[in-house]
Amino acid sequence: MTTIRLCHLYPAQMNFYADRGNIAVLARRLAWRGHQLEITESGPGHEPSADHELWYLGGGQDRDQTLVAGDLVDNKAPAMRAAADDGAAMLFVCGGIQLAGHSYIGVDGETLAGAGVLDLTTMAGPERLIGDLVIDAEIDGRTDTVVGYENHAGRTTLGVGCRPLGRVISGHGNDGTSGFEGAVRDRVIGTYLHGPLLPKNPWIADTLLGWAIEHRTGSTVELEPLPDELEAQARARAIARAGVER
Ligand code: GLN
Repeated sequence: MTTIRLCHLYPAQMNFYADRGNIAVLARRLAWRGHQLEITESGPGHEPSADHELWYLGGGQDRDQTLVAGDLVDNKAPAMRAAADDGAAMLFVCGGIQLAGHSYIGVDGETLAGAGVLDLTTMAGPERLIGDLVIDAEIDGRTDTVVGYENHAGRTTLGVGCRPLGRVISGHGNDGTSGFEGAVRDRVIGTYLHGPLLPKNPWIADTLLGWAIEHRTGSTVELEPLPDELEAQARARAIARAGVER
């Protein structure tokens, strides 16, 4: 049995659209394979150590991001950057991807510095980008459809240090014009997909868990497949609702 150490950043402040549900999926899918998740909740004032194998920051509104951004840069960013460089697995959702980047300029024009884990910047635009979002995502050589819901004012521009998670099939994605959605570097994934993301897209959950186990143990793992029938139905329904043929 392997214990994966998860650092859950700002669970109280950054939990838009039940993004916390992603943690429940990670814990369950790990337990079904005989492993366990040990969760550290890292709120304001807490300095997490860099030796967590898995990191998570959910979405939040501008006011939530304003509350945590200074603390993120001062107390969390050095450990996060060290862990990302060392091969830890990370998931950042919506407000999370914005704060994982270099900076976010919010609706009120205030600039928030980010953790600098992902090479990207974000600026709020005049209209919110809202609705079902369907993308073709590519991770570790596998391309598959990923579904969710987006609601953000931020327009995210990627630098050369990361690539998009996928291409938008239906919806807006990073900025509503580029056709890109999300960002990936090493074992770090950022995305605008809420829903929450992982219940309907279990292969993303298993990718993160596989990466975390590899990072912890130093050896590659084949996670035992799970039936995932309900998950497949939920994903198919989301694809149909978006009017996408798959
Ligand atoms: N506050 C950010 C925006 O509106 C993020 C919103 C979110 O996390 N859903 O762009």
